Parts: sequence; C-alpha cells; structure tokens
Amino acid sequence: MTTVTNLGFPRIGAKRELKRALERHWSGEDDIATLQASAAALRARHWKLQIEAGVDVPPSNDFSLYDQVLDTAFLFDALPARYRALAEHEPLAAYFAMARGLQRDGIDLHALEMTKWFDTNYHYLVPELQAGQAFALRGDKPLAEFREAKALGIHTRPVLLGPVSFLLLSKTTDGSAALELLDALLPSYVDLLAQLAAAGADWVQLDEPLLVQDLDAGARSAFERAYGVLGGNAAARPKLLLATYFGALDDNLSLAAALPVDGLHVDLVRAPEQLDAVLQALPAGRVLSAGLVNGRNIWRTQLDNALILARYAQTDRGADLLWLAPSCSLLHTPVDLTLEKKLDDELRSWLAFSRQKLEELRVLADALDGKPSADAGLGANREALEARRRSPRVHDPAVAARLASLSAADARRHGSYPQRRLAQHAALQLPLLPTTTIGSFPQTLDVREARARHKSGKLSLGDYEAFLEQQTAHCVRVQEELGLDVLVHGEFERNDMVEYFGEQLEGFAFTGNGWVQSYGSRCVKPPVIFGDVSRPRPMTVRWSQYAQSLTRKPMKGMLTGPVTVLQWSFVRDDQERDATCRQIALALRDEVNDLEAAGIGVIQVDEPAIREGLPLRRAQWRSYLDWAVESFRISTSGVRDATQIHTHMCYSEFNDIIHSVAAMDADVISIETSRSRMELLDAFVRFNYPNEIGPGVYDIHSPRVPDKVEMVDLLRKALAVLKPEQLWVNPDCGLKTRGWPETRAALQALVAAAAELRAEHAEASVA
Ligand code: GLN
Ligand code: ZN
Repeated sequence: MTTVTNLGFPRIGAKRELKRALERHWSGEDDIATLQASAAALRARHWKLQIEAGVDVPPSNDFSLYDQVLDTAFLFDALPARYRALAEHEPLAAYFAMARGLQRDGIDLHALEMTKWFDTNYHYLVPELQAGQAFALRGDKPLAEFREAKALGIHTRPVLLGPVSFLLLSKTTDGSAALELLDALLPSYVDLLAQLAAAGADWVQLDEPLLVQDLDAGARSAFERAYGVLGGNAAARPKLLLATYFGALDDNLSLAAALPVDGLHVDLVRAPEQLDAVLQALPAGRVLSAGLVNGRNIWRTQLDNALILARYAQTDRGADLLWLAPSCSLLHTPVDLTLEKKLDDELRSWLAFSRQKLEELRVLADALDGKPSADAGLGANREALEARRRSPRVHDPAVAARLASLSAADARRHGSYPQRRLAQHAALQLPLLPTTTIGSFPQTLDVREARARHKSGKLSLGDYEAFLEQQTAHCVRVQEELGLDVLVHGEFERNDMVEYFGEQLEGFAFTGNGWVQSYGSRCVKPPVIFGDVSRPRPMTVRWSQYAQSLTRKPMKGMLTGPVTVLQWSFVRDDQERDATCRQIALALRDEVNDLEAAGIGVIQVDEPAIREGLPLRRAQWRSYLDWAVESFRISTSGVRDATQIHTHMCYSEFNDIIHSVAAMDADVISIETSRSRMELLDAFVRFNYPNEIGPGVYDIHSPRVPDKVEMVDLLRKALAVLKPEQLWVNPDCGLKTRGWPETRAALQALVAAAAELRAEHAEASVA
C-alpha cells in the first residue's frame, strides 16, 4: 500500500482564524488560554481535514503561532539576551516580542530581523546567535502537538527544521560562523528526538531545504557531522525523514543520500529530472518521499504525468518504500477551494488548493495500488486539464503573435544614456540634485473607507472618482508648496501595487478567499495569472493626466514593473515564466507609451521584487536576470529620448546584481539606503554606476521624522562617491503607510537639505 503523507499544512485557517485570534490577543481582548484554545481548534480541524482528504500520515509541529524558524530558535533556547528576562516570566510575550518588538511600561525591545523564506513570499524571523552560546530544550511544543493529535486518534509525523538549515538561516551578531555552534546544538536535537520516540513518534521529518542550494565544504561537512550524530543511535530515536524542497539536490545528492537517515523527500515538481539520479543514489531499504504535487501554486496537477514518475519510483522502491507527498509544505497555498466563491466555475475547475492537492495525492496512491476507484479521479483530472488547454480564455493569438515578433530593438532605448540625458535636460529643466518621491502619499482612513464604500456599492463611481480627484489635487498642492521638483499624483486610487494593474489586465483573476501567509498574522491574496496577458485600455493615464493638468512641474507617471507583477502572483504553469513576464512587459509598454503621448515626460516603473526572483542556485541567476532585465526594458524602451524613465527598488542588497540593475538602463533609479547609512552605495561605486541615482534619505518605514542636518549628512556621504549631476534626493520608498504631518515635515527637511547642497555646488562652480 502506497502511503500518502504531507510535509506541512497552512496554519492561518481558511477564513484567517489564526490572524483574528492573534490580533485579539495582541490587542488585549483575548488572554493566552483563549488564544491557545483557538490554535488547538485550528490544529484539530486541519488534522481531520487532511485525514478526510486521504492523507495517511499528516504532519504535526507544522503549526506555528507566528513562524516555524522563530519556533525553532525558541525551542532550543536561542534567545538573544534582550528578551531573556521577559521570557522567564512571560514566555509567550517574549516569543511575540522576538517577532514584533515590544514597547510597554518602559520596556523597548526591537524585533528580530525578518527575511524571505527561500524564493517564496513567506517571511521568516532570522534567529540571532553568537559564538559560544548554549542551547537547551525550552518547552515541549513538538511533543505537545504530537500528543494532542494522538489524543484525537491521529498519528502524526512531527516536523522539525533540521540543525544545519537552522544554523545557516540564522545570523550571528558577532561575525562568528553559525556552523561553529553545531556541536553545541546537536545534543538538544538528540534529546528531543529521544523524547519524541518515547512519546510514540515512529518517524520525524527533518527539513533541510539548504540542501537544494550551493553549499561550501564547511556546510557539507556540517551535514555529515550533524546526521552522523542524529542518525547514530538508531534504537533510541524515531526514523528520520530528511526533507529537501524548492529544487534539485544536484551536486548535493550524493551527500544527502549518504547521510544515515531512513528516508529522503525530494521535490519532483521543481526538479522531476532528478528522479533517476535519486533512485540510483538512494541506498536500498530507504524510503523515498516523492514530492509530486506542487505546494507552491494553485493549479491542478497533471496526474497522468505524476503517475508516470510515481510508477517509475514504485518499480524501483516497491510500494512500501514509496511515499507520496506535496513538493513542499502547503504553507504557500490557500486552504480549500470549495470555500472559494468569487471565481467562476470554469476557472475554479482548473485549480487545486491545499485540500484538493492532498486529494490528488490520494488518487495517485490509489492508482498505484491498482484500486479501480482511482479511475474516476484520473478521468475528472484529465477532463479539467483538457478543458483548460483548449479554453479560449487562456490563449489569445494576438498576444502570441506580438510576442513572436519581438526583436532585440524593442528592448533598447533609441539613444544611449548620454544622448538621452541631454534631451531630458532640455525637456525637463531640472535643477542640480532634483527632489522627488517614490509615488504613494498617505493612504489615510478616509481613502481606504471611500474605496471600501465604492466596492460595496455604497459610493457611486462618479462620487468615488470625484473624491480621488480631490485627494490628488490636495497632494499636488502640498508638493508644490513644499517645492519638490518632480511631482507624483499620490496613488490614492490604488489598493495594492499589483492588484490594481491585474484587475485591469486580461489574463488575471482574483480569488475571494485565496489567502496565503506572508508573515505572522499578515496574509496576501495573490492574483492568479491564468491566460495570455494584454491591456484592453489605458490603466493609469487618466490619473496622471489629471494630476499633470494641475501643475507646471513634471508629473511622474507610476507603474508596477513586469517582474514584480509576476513575482507577486500565482503564475500559470502551462508556459515558462519568462514568456508570461514578457507578455506583462508588452502590456506595460503600451501604458508607458500612452503616458508619454498624454504629455507625461517622466515615468517610473517600480521593480521592488526583481531581486527576490533570483533562483536558489547561482548557476541559474544569469538566465533569470537576462529575461528579467529584458522584460523591464521591453516595457520602458518605446519612448523618446527626452522621456525620462525611473525605476525604484526597495532593498539594500545590490552587490550581487549590480550589473543587471545597470543593464535595466533606467535613466534614474531610486533605492533604499537610509537604514544602512548609504553603505549600499559601495556596490554602485565599485561598479561606477553610469546613470542617475536617488539613494533614499528618509526611512519611511519608521514614524520618526529625520531633520535637515541628518539628510544633508547622508547626501554628503553619497556625494563622496557619486557625481553631483548623478544624484537625486528622495525618500527610500512610497509614503502610503505614513501620516500627513510627518510626511510634510520630513519632505520639508528633504527639500531644504537639497537646497543647501545645491547652493554649495553653485558657489563652487562659480568660484
Ligand atoms: N510606487 C510605489 C509606492 O510609492 C512603490 C512601492 C514599493 O516600492 N513597494 O508606494
Ligand atoms: Zn519601495
């Protein structure tokens, strides 16, 4: 009998029950016991749901009140000193303080850093470690949750983040190497595994996703050391399933296959081609957990194809040593498609959320076991996929023709940057050190309420647009009063920088309930790109044109770039990502050209997500960066030399990708720097960045208002490495989360800082 298992289930709840429970606890409404009861109810519901879907062995300890990496740090007592005193008396308060910071009665603890979990849009908390620190078991979360399921009559497989990935995902505060802590950490793992065995766990899943990344010799030998210890005493421990996902093991395959564990999980969705090599490398008697259903998207699996892989694996392993599983934890997929009411029936028939993905695994397992009951499932799957393939909603011949006729010239501006610079200088007449903002202005309660009232039909389109015009006009007036040089319309009409465009493009759909956890209680509802993308009509021209009519200063048009739209959506799986990205790029190109034709001389195309799309293996970076850069250039190269193209990125790690950032060939790029005190400029300096650049001088992530002196100081740092003709003065991201008073005050200081340095340079050039 083929076993169906699962690596992890979304914990937020189909209706975001966990979010609600957390927020009620944080606001003081619910006490700890109430929160814990809500969490336990969700766990129970999810275990039962998985069993009903046909899973033989669901996971436990995949649940988290905030984040599984934070749980691991907490479990092994890796608490930074600042939280320790609080943790003695109020462990849960300390846990949440590590996640969110804490300001209370004179306590002021800042949170751990947060960063992206591999190439997903889930964020984990980065544990802080230091040389010589100790570890110990704190609490018993994995045991407690295993027993909790047991009490419900459900036998689970506890999930733990493996020791090597845990250390490599952490950072040290003293510059020491995290892997040096391995020997100190391992006894706690051994101890925990023994306790789990004693509680009745026959298998434990150890997640080591780092095994699909490039590893140096130190990391490889850490794996050998760690699993030599954990796998050592087979009598006193549960069996170990080493779980890898998000890519191929490749050059780490022989390492992984040689570790003394009892089973290996591999991702056969991202890397089906590795099956052959895995089967050959895996010693006899070892379980293969085959990840056959995509845990990262919302599409139905091509079961016939999955079955071919599964049968091949079965021939090699035999039924008892083959488990079927999703490619990775289902954390990245919404809970249950049957609760989705907004999508039409046709589209819905092409999709599978977490619950449906587990049902697909059941069908596969039954088919492998020769059960006739599988036929109905396979047949329905075939029919749905065939309908999708043929649907006229998916394929638009005009889009295909346009894509086919793209030439290299379409991704190249007419003139070189120096030529464009002259044309733009003549057209825009900007002063030295021009000032601008990144696009959005405060999205006050008023704005959000008006949008909600319009959406629910309580505010007519006419009244809503009149309201938005008022907001825009006010925003333009404020910018004129402040004396900014390049103005923006304020983005009041936008809910979200991807959704706003997706809603106006063909090929996109929106779920009513497709929530995925982003971090803690925060969820996102990614758009679904199901078909060829095109732009039926202009999307932003009306607002930019209106705003431009109110001022003689240049009004900057504002668009979200193709790579960012792609990255923050569920992308179709029936063509390569780069083809979808080029389609979005062409739709945006039309918008850029229309903006220009409407008299907008400065256009910004935001690409905050270009870096996070980087593949996990360096060898694949080049090809990704090539099509990502090309897509950006397709969208921005249709304009005259005199039209100034801006881009914006908000992260401070540029060293790795600086050549590609330059290859985007935007005339001006604005980037986040104020938190790193201009340190990131190093990358731009060493590389000698050719175009113009606005390193942010105002950290919009904080309510703090920096003064003029502070900004002048940052600008001087920038001027030490950049030519004054290259430098722009701007905040480091959009202002939508800020309030008006602090926005005004900070921008006033920003304009004054630019003026001060401008005057110095004017004197210098006269003298
Ligand atoms: N133009 C967008 C804004 O100002 C950019 C947002 C972003 O970088 N994430 O809000
Ligand atoms: Zn930004």
